[in-house]
Amino acid sequence: TLSQIGLIGLGTMGAALASNIADNCFDIAVWNRTTSVTHDFVKNAGDLAPRITSTDTLEDLVAAIATPRAIILMVPAGQPVDDQIAALRPLLDDDDLIIDAGNALFHDTNRRAAEATGPFLGIGVSGGEEGARFGPSIMGGGARQYWDRVSHILEAISAKHKGTPCATWMGEAGAGHFVKAVHNGIEYADMQMIAEVYGVMRDGFGMSASDIGDVFARWNTGPLQSYLIEISGKVAQAYDPKSDGPLLDIIVDAAGQKGTGRWTAIEAQHLASPIPGIEAAVVARNLSSRRQERAEGEALFGGAPTSIPKDQLSIDQLEMGLIAGKILSYAQGFAMIEAASESYDWALPLPEIARVWREGCIIRSTMLDDMATALTNHPDRNLMRAPAFADQLKAHHMALRQIVAVGTLHGIAMPALASSIAYFDAMRTARGTANMIQGQRDYFGRHSFARLDGGEGWHGPWAD
Ligand code: NDP
Repeated sequence: TLSQIGLIGLGTMGAALASNIADNCFDIAVWNRTTSVTHDFVKNAGDLAPRITSTDTLEDLVAAIATPRAIILMVPAGQPVDDQIAALRPLLDDDDLIIDAGNALFHDTNRRAAEATGPFLGIGVSGGEEGARFGPSIMGGGARQYWDRVSHILEAISAKHKGTPCATWMGEAGAGHFVKAVHNGIEYADMQMIAEVYGVMRDGFGMSASDIGDVFARWNTGPLQSYLIEISGKVAQAYDPKSDGPLLDIIVDAAGQKGTGRWTAIEAQHLASPIPGIEAAVVARNLSSRRQERAEGEALFGGAPTSIPKDQLSIDQLEMGLIAGKILSYAQGFAMIEAASESYDWALPLPEIARVWREGCIIRSTMLDDMATALTNHPDRNLMRAPAFADQLKAHHMALRQIVAVGTLHGIAMPALASSIAYFDAMRTARGTANMIQGQRDYFGRHSFARLDGGEGWHGPWAD
């Protein structure tokens, strides 16, 4: 029998996704650039093997799939995707569908969709290897008719929240990969803010890694319940036999990145959409990699944080401040999605996006339920002004402020939390300070300004 779908690229993600597809009772044909990888994959597939067809050439792959065909690419983003499409498309029928499921830059997906000589989808898949194997969150992009052709498979393999698949069509062309990029930007911010409160507990409160792990474990039973808080607790509690101490204490403090958070920050600048908390999280990773310079800075300035007296800041305030910071970074992310929706003429479904992120992906959390509700009930409002979240921010912004103020006084760097409170304050200040910027711009560049009492195109007395 012919397979219902094909997959190219049996690396970490492709192998997991192919197994997931077979596990959900779809017959799948697979091909990998290195043939031995394909053979090993099928050899180790166990119970799933009868549903998997191994192929050694692209021609064999194409011949093994029922028409109209659908073939998933799970190869590294960038040139390999273009090369693979170029090799595959001539072998396909006009109506066969190519699905790029890697982490493509959405501009590339826009281009590929425009250049495609046949059906094409770009889908964002989140949740790492575990998610791909047992249920990822899937953000689809491309012509709706092609999504509808494969949605039964993608929904079947996706994570479920209360029985509903976390797989949704987001819009045309690069819409799915765009939403995936913002997901990753929010992920950076979530991770960074957790790392910053960890820093307060470690350096400001002098707490041990395992005690900090206990705090995260407790927070994971409250409003902050999320995959990232959960694993942060586990990471903090892990023991390292080699050093006979907490594993966290021997991990080098330089964070890697594959660039998707950076794309979000760059795109936010193009869209002129303010996401300072997310941008700060990208900056923080870049700062982290400057280890030598940081050590030299500490030697020169004596930068090591000093301990924070208990009456200045409490663990409860850390929790409340983190709640506020989290709300603010999601507000930034969703506002950016809204901005892109207008700019790219997508109708990105904000409540659906919150729902699709609810399970399967790295940023899954219970708070996303309330976000989906708020975005449904108040579609035209920044999330921070939706009633449920406005109430929480009213209750918790002082705690966030306290963390940033006290932490800063004690020399603890917290770029993401500080940027988020700055965002909050800027977004609740009716009379800002850009009148000074406009005055300066008019002075040196005759850019003109608008007056509060009416009219545009004014100049100051320096104009002549
Ligand atoms: P791996 O490095 O594990 O696998 C890459 C796969 O692509 C291999 O099968 C490799 O084949 C194949 N490949 C590499 N270069 C080419 C090429 N030029 N032409 C054809 N095939 C090629 O990568 P991942 O599975 O981790 O990632 C795949 C995609 O999924 C990426 O876009 C990644 O960003 C994305 N992604 C990854 C996540 C993760 O947690 N790892 C999460 C979400 C998305 P060969 O065996 O011959 O080398």
